[in-house]
Amino acid sequence: MRKVSFYTIGCKLNFAETSTISEEFKKRGFEIVEFGEPVDVCVINTCSVTENADRDCRRVVRKALKISPNAFIIVTGCYAQLRPDEIAQIEGVDLILGSNEKFKIFDYVNDFQKNYHAQIFVSPISEISEFHIASSTPASDRTRAFLKVQDGCDYNCSYCTIPLARGESRSPEINIILEKAKTLAQLGYKEIVLSGVNVGDYGRKIGTNLFELVKELEKIDGIERIRISSIEPNLLTEDMIDYFIASEKICNHFHIPLQSGSDEILRKMRRRYNSELYRRRVEYIKSKDTDACIGADVIVGFPGESEKHFETTYNFINDLPISYLHVFTYSERPNTDAINLPGKVPIEERHRRSEMLRNLGLKKKMVFYRQMIGKKFDVLWESEVKDGKMFGFTRNYVKVGIPYDQSLVNKIVPVKIVGVENLAAIGEIIVDRSQSEVEMK
Ligand code: SF4
Repeated sequence: MRKVSFYTIGCKLNFAETSTISEEFKKRGFEIVEFGEPVDVCVINTCSVTENADRDCRRVVRKALKISPNAFIIVTGCYAQLRPDEIAQIEGVDLILGSNEKFKIFDYVNDFQKNYHAQIFVSPISEISEFHIASSTPASDRTRAFLKVQDGCDYNCSYCTIPLARGESRSPEINIILEKAKTLAQLGYKEIVLSGVNVGDYGRKIGTNLFELVKELEKIDGIERIRISSIEPNLLTEDMIDYFIASEKICNHFHIPLQSGSDEILRKMRRRYNSELYRRRVEYIKSKDTDACIGADVIVGFPGESEKHFETTYNFINDLPISYLHVFTYSERPNTDAINLPGKVPIEERHRRSEMLRNLGLKKKMVFYRQMIGKKFDVLWESEVKDGKMFGFTRNYVKVGIPYDQSLVNKIVPVKIVGVENLAAIGEIIVDRSQSEVEMK
């Protein structure tokens, strides 16, 4: 039996898509093995957002060929769509497939005989209109599955290459997603994370929306939790917030990209909101549910970001009840408008600002976790063991640890939070569930 391995760089969406591509190989009789084992074929799914896409891709190709010098190497994903010629320079690559082609590998190759020169099949981005449903379903742990419900983006943020690599915003009909979610429930997954490039834009072009989708997903037996990976602040309405918070299944966890707390920088980024709208959203969520978790993405070192702009961002975040941060250091991307903006921030300064915000993010996370001490939550337990402990997440995305007990894996079991240690909350299992459910959050 021929063997294939996969290597994924980048976001959850890429992982979900790799999983779908691997299913196709399985159907064709391939054995899927871990990356690093000897193989006949290796598929590398790349990302354009990472700062060193070229270096990362080169490193992975070399590693694959070191173990299997005759392996047929396929490179696909966002970086392949944007820079196929760069990838073709990497020694040992046989096939480069763009965003339209990545789900049709067998249309382009069947015998997997090494070429010793790279063949490129990349459609222009304007021709990309298909949607491929995908989900990442780690076999080791049937707790959480990432379900792709949307792809591409019509926003035109000045720093972003994603629309150039993934094309225009598109999404499938609700029933297609429901079918996939039912399959995940049958496989034992209890939580689904709705993923996409711009999830809040789900359904806009097909006469529906994210709100309608989650209402249908809630009806699926076996799916106990629905988490929304991320939603733009301008797309998150108060009606949605009310509904999500009242729902038994939708997690009270809102990941809302901020990018900057300065309106001047937000305008240069071409974001579709200002800091006031963001503040209102956060305060509204907290006014409805003090335990709700709110995460934010921030970019530091955007062209023209002065020390004063940065301070504005820092203070804006510091003052708001945000629970954690994902901090990104701005880096120049070819073919974006931001690359031509004046006011380049020196690299060391970008790193200093990034470090400051990372520290702030950690501080806010610990404050949020400590606010949960003494409260009771349901936790979905995962299989990973570290130092004799197992971990799981509450609906409001608090990571909780308890001594390892295999019988709890993939079960939702209530705990009381009794402390915080090593960036996780310490839980105590509540033995009498019937009593605890009365007060459960
Ligand atoms: S919303 Fe902006 S940053 Fe996000 S994917 Fe679309 S263009 Fe990129």
